[in-house]
Amino acid sequence: MPGPRPVVLSGPSGAGKSTLMKKLLQDYEGVFGFSVSHTTRNPRPGEEDGKDYHFTNREAMQKGIENGDFIESAGFSGNLYGTSKSAIEDVQAKNLICILDVDIQGVMKIKETDLNPIYISIQPPSMEILEKRLRDRQTETEESLQKRLEAAQTDLELSKEPGVFDVIIINDDLDKAYEELKAILSDEIKKVQEAKS
Ligand code: ADP
Ligand code: 5GP
Repeated sequence: MPGPRPVVLSGPSGAGKSTLMKKLLQDYEGVFGFSVSHTTRNPRPGEEDGKDYHFTNREAMQKGIENGDFIESAGFSGNLYGTSKSAIEDVQAKNLICILDVDIQGVMKIKETDLNPIYISIQPPSMEILEKRLRDRQTETEESLQKRLEAAQTDLELSKEPGVFDVIIINDDLDKAYEELKAILSDEIKKVQEAKS
């Protein structure tokens, strides 16, 4: 029997993907599993290796990509990011809904695979609010912040193309955005809960 459909969460950096995803993972223990990506960027305070990301270096990651270990990878804001096959397999082996947090390049590449996820874009109410959220998060240098804002423009443009995303959620009020997200995923959540009961 096929397992639950994976979910791709995408959208500009700072739009609120991690915040929403962490709420889902907390509120639905045993339903969702996070696909832990690899990245060459440095860990932020509080981030754990193997939980938030597999933190690695460019050489090792490039080797992995050449070996065919990744279903997709992309350069973002001066670093490499990628989803390994085993990151997804680890979650699917437990029959959980696999959540992937990837940028728009990742979305396009996943579309060429047979993963068949639900594609959701989390977007900010405006570029001004996005910039404020990124600044207030205090995780970026000015350079990295500017790169993320540039990438956000491209992301928002591409997201408007028909068929790229199944749903676009504007994350203005967090509680409202979370309710929308849960509603979109309710069928899939039910399937997993029923299979467990
Ligand atoms: P992403 O994972 O998309 O890069 P985050 O989840 O880290 O974004 O959110 C960016 C920042 O904005 C965080 O500091 C987070 O607490 C804050 N944030 C997220 N959603 C909202 C919201 N609806 N209103 C205000 N601040 C928010
Ligand atoms: P951050 O550095 O803020 O954690 O992530 C930066 C961007 O990289 C975000 O847009 C996030 O969605 C994206 N990202 C994280 N993991 C992956 C991945 O495995 N593949 C791709 N393509 N993008 C990723």
